[in-house]
Amino acid sequence: MKRIYLLPNEGTFYKANLHCHSVISDGKKTIEELKGMYQRHGYSILAYTDHRRYRDHRNLSDETFLALAGYEADADWETGDYNHYATTHICLYDTDPDQHREEKNKSPMPKGRDTAALNTFAKEMGELGFLLCYNHPYWSLQTYEDYKGLRGFFAMEIYNHGCEIDGLYGYHAQAYDEMLRTGNRLACVATDDNHNCYPEEDPMCDSFGGFTMVKAKELSYTAVIDALRRGDFYASTGPEIKDFYLEGNRIVLKTSPVSKIYVKGSGRLSYQKRSRANEFLTEAVFERDPNRNDRFLRVSIQDEKGRHADSRAYFLDEMN
Ligand SMILES: [Zn+2]
Ligand SMILES: [Zn+2]
Repeated sequence: MKRIYLLPNEGTFYKANLHCHSVISDGKKTIEELKGMYQRHGYSILAYTDHRRYRDHRNLSDETFLALAGYEADADWETGDYNHYATTHICLYDTDPDQHREEKNKSPMPKGRDTAALNTFAKEMGELGFLLCYNHPYWSLQTYEDYKGLRGFFAMEIYNHGCEIDGLYGYHAQAYDEMLRTGNRLACVATDDNHNCYPEEDPMCDSFGGFTMVKAKELSYTAVIDALRRGDFYASTGPEIKDFYLEGNRIVLKTSPVSKIYVKGSGRLSYQKRSRANEFLTEAVFERDPNRNDRFLRVSIQDEKGRHADSRAYFLDEMN
């Protein structure tokens, strides 16, 4: 029976933090210290995304570590009352740091507060070679009206660990589902957005809480960028999605030990499997119900500590 791999079956999973601040902006660690910390915690990929400062730290890359070039842009919607005004934050990942170097070094910023201006910014940055990720809408005080019209983003954050520390604003799956239901075909990532104002052992440390598992054919700049572009990754705060494929009418999932395995669709109904108390699940097989008319499917799992992993949405009209 024909098998359609949603997560690719070939390649290697590399653990990535795609949102990180160093002393170059308002973080407390140097770029070298960040590399060391993340390597010790099993990460292979770190995107350096300092506020408003594009940087290319590829000189830190070696056979076990990849530094992605980029920055975080922001557009505040008002001035004055920081506690109440909304803002838009966007991570930009450089797909080819050897191109358009001068223009990227200007770290261009979104040109306004309105959706059309942000979409123009996204289009222009895409033409410069950036992949754009829409960040932490919950923390940013954004509403559905603010983000529903955004286009040109390859992904958005479904979890941001810095925002979790800041106000329990970390996991915001509803915003991702809303984006998908408006027809926005973007993926989701989990990130740290670490600034490291607290030491590693402190409960307020904002590192190592949200990560993205990227499945690429090798740990090279081009292979990892290709995997990001294709959506060959999932977001997690702990659990692992090992396999996710369709076989005939069945949806098949293999995971690390978890207590809930759900496959969500474009509507209200989901496929569900939950473990009994003190037991766990490592796989689920669901028969698809054709009457649901789902436009997309995505998996969401949860372990006994309440930690999540989420795949991106896979749109069924793109599968053959
Ligand atoms: Zn931000
Ligand atoms: Zn940030």
